[in-house]
Amino acid sequence: MAYQLRIPAILLLFGCLACDDDTGKNAGNTGICTDLDGLQTCWNTGNTNNQGILPVSVNVNSGAGAFLLTAFVTGDAYPSVEAIRSPEGSRELYWDDWYTSDYNLTAGILPLGNEMMINWPIRAEDPALSAGRYTVDVAVIDTEGYYQLGKSVTYYTQVKQDDSFSSGTVQARIVYVDDLGDNATITGATEDAVAIWRAIWSTYGLTLSVDYDTRPEVDAAIPSMTEGSEDISEISATGTDADITVIICDTVGGTTQIYGESGGIPGTLVEGRQSAVALSWITNAGGDGTFSTNDIQVYGETLAHEVGHYMGLFHPVDFNGNRAQYWDALSDTDECNTTAACDASLGENNMYPYPVCIGFNNCLDQQSLSTGQAGVLHRYTGAL
Ligand SMILES: [Zn+2]
Repeated sequence: MAYQLRIPAILLLFGCLACDDDTGKNAGNTGICTDLDGLQTCWNTGNTNNQGILPVSVNVNSGAGAFLLTAFVTGDAYPSVEAIRSPEGSRELYWDDWYTSDYNLTAGILPLGNEMMINWPIRAEDPALSAGRYTVDVAVIDTEGYYQLGKSVTYYTQVKQDDSFSSGTVQARIVYVDDLGDNATITGATEDAVAIWRAIWSTYGLTLSVDYDTRPEVDAAIPSMTEGSEDISEISATGTDADITVIICDTVGGTTQIYGESGGIPGTLVEGRQSAVALSWITNAGGDGTFSTNDIQVYGETLAHEVGHYMGLFHPVDFNGNRAQYWDALSDTDECNTTAACDASLGENNMYPYPVCIGFNNCLDQQSLSTGQAGVLHRYTGAL
C-alpha cells in the first residue's frame, strides 16, 4: 500500500497563534440524527481547522457498545483518523502509534482514499465506551502528505445501543448483479455457501441473517473495492443503514484471481463508493463454472473471510515472500515468522491470507477464529 506521510500544515504556512485547542470543546456538532435499525445515525458536514483537522463529536449514551465513523472528502484529499479522545479527555487512539507499527489495528488511520471508516472500540483490550461525548479528530491530507486546511468533510456517526459482545446478529444483503440472480447454479451454490458461513459464525455467538436481492442493470465486472463506484453506492443505498451489502459478480478488479474484496477494514454501514463486499462467483467456483463440494466450502469460507474484513479483522499475518511482515493487533493469534510455521499454526484460521492445500482440491478447512478475532466481530457497530 502507498501510505501517505503527514506533514504539518502549520509549520509550512503560518505559526499557530490561534489554533483550536486540543480538548475537543470546538468539536463539530452531531448534526441531523435518526434512530433507525437499532442504531443512532447522525450526519453533518464541517471544515478542517487551521491544523488540517476536523474534530467530530460522537454522543454516547450509557449501554452503548461501539460507534462507527464514516468520513467522505472529494478531490485529491484523503481523510484519516488522527486521534480518538474519550469524554474524560484521555487519548485512546493515536494514529502514529500504529502507522509505523508491524501490527495492523485499523485502516482508519491510513489516508488511502476519499472515504475513511473507523469502528471504536475494536478489541477487548481497548477501553470500553463510557457515556458522554467522544471526539474523533479527522485529518485530511493531500497527495503530497500536507494537511489540508478548510477542507469540507461529510461525516456519519453511528452508535449501537448494545454492549453485549458475546452474542449478536449481523444483517447481510446479498445482491446479484447483471443476470446472475436468474442462474439457479449460482443462486443455489450461494445459498449453500451462506449455510457454511452461518455455521462458521454460529460457533462464536454471531447470528447471520441474510436477504437476497438483484440489480440486473449493474455490470457483472465490479471494479476494485479500494476504488469503488457509484453503482456500489446505489446498490448499498437501497438497503438499510444497519446491513452489510455483499455483491455477487463475475469478476472483482478485472481479474479472476480475486475471490472477493472488502470495501474497507472496517467498511461502512452507510452508502458510499466502497460500501460493500464483492465476491466473484467464477473464482469461487474454481474457474470452471461448476461448483464442487470443495468449491462451495471455499465460497462459504470466503464470504465469512471478506465480511470479517468488513467488520474490522485483518489477516492474522501478512507475508513478504516467505517471511512474515505484518501481524494483526490481537494477542491470541500466533506471531509466526515464516510461511511454513504460519501455515502450521494458523492455516485453519478463517482470516488466513490464502488457502493451505496439499495437492488439488485437498485444502484445510479455514473456519476457526480466535477469541480476540470473535471479539472484533462482536464490537463492529453492525453486529447488533
Ligand atoms: Zn483477506
